[in-house]
Amino acid sequence: MTQTVLAADFGGTHLRAGLVTADGAVISRLDHATPENATPAEIVRDVTNLLVRAARAATPPPVAACIATAGLINAEAGMVIFAPNIPGFRNLVLTTPLAAELGIPAFIENDASAAALGEFRFGAGRGCRDLLHATLGTGIGGGLVIEGRLYRGSRGLAGEIGHMIIDPSGARCRCGSRGCLEAMVSGVAFANRARILLDAGKSEVLREIVGYGEPTAAALHRAAQVGDTLCEAEIRHGGHLLGLALGGLVNVLDPDAVTLSGGLLAMGDMLLDPMRQAMHSLAYGAAAGTPVKLSTLGDDGGLLGAAAVAFERLEGR
Ligand SMILES: [Zn+2]
Repeated sequence: MTQTVLAADFGGTHLRAGLVTADGAVISRLDHATPENATPAEIVRDVTNLLVRAARAATPPPVAACIATAGLINAEAGMVIFAPNIPGFRNLVLTTPLAAELGIPAFIENDASAAALGEFRFGAGRGCRDLLHATLGTGIGGGLVIEGRLYRGSRGLAGEIGHMIIDPSGARCRCGSRGCLEAMVSGVAFANRARILLDAGKSEVLREIVGYGEPTAAALHRAAQVGDTLCEAEIRHGGHLLGLALGGLVNVLDPDAVTLSGGLLAMGDMLLDPMRQAMHSLAYGAAAGTPVKLSTLGDDGGLLGAAAVAFERLEGR
């Protein structure tokens, strides 16, 4: 029988979990809405119960479990230090109750770091030794695989590329700084740019698309697709800034490839062409040829990332 791990992708509102084989096949999955207005202790109990049920239903039982979640994670201690999307989640140990209930090793990892290892093991980063992965969604995350292993840094915080400052006079970031990559190029940043265009009365097309709703990155993209040049310029400028950030990182890390995942990829070449151009023009020497690859894992990226971490930890790495 095939060995599996129990992988979970834990977000602000949903827990997705599944059993994953060492080849990256997801052989069962579940999607569960986490309880609203629950205390952190209740959420931990809910998550633990669900994963225990999933593990007990499996034959053969999984050999390890891993939860990937956004935020500052101390992987060694199995602790969520701070989770921006889950109110009250501070300095909580998630893995101990899970390991005790399941009787198997349980791990936790930052979701972007897990995504990097998922691409490295199962996706667009296969065959690489050194990999830089960026998650381009509501926020911006990053993960590093160096010499074939997930690189966590001295405090487990490595890969926070969203908080590199790319414009000191740029937009305010939720971290308190100004002009962080995430404050300039992300789902939230593009929605803010759309709001500014609307408030200035500069885009009738965008106004029509948004109607009485809230502006979003998707609405900005739709307006650009139907020919609104200001909306398109916003997206292209965002791509340019993203390329500057990635080009700088390529110069530092010299990875085999840069892999990308996340909802902003729906913007396609409007975002990615200026990004590639800026990245390659900035990268130094041979690094200018660093390939950019798009995730091949789709919606399973979160699960496969958590699974990749579980397998790496089981291998003692
Ligand atoms: Zn920031």
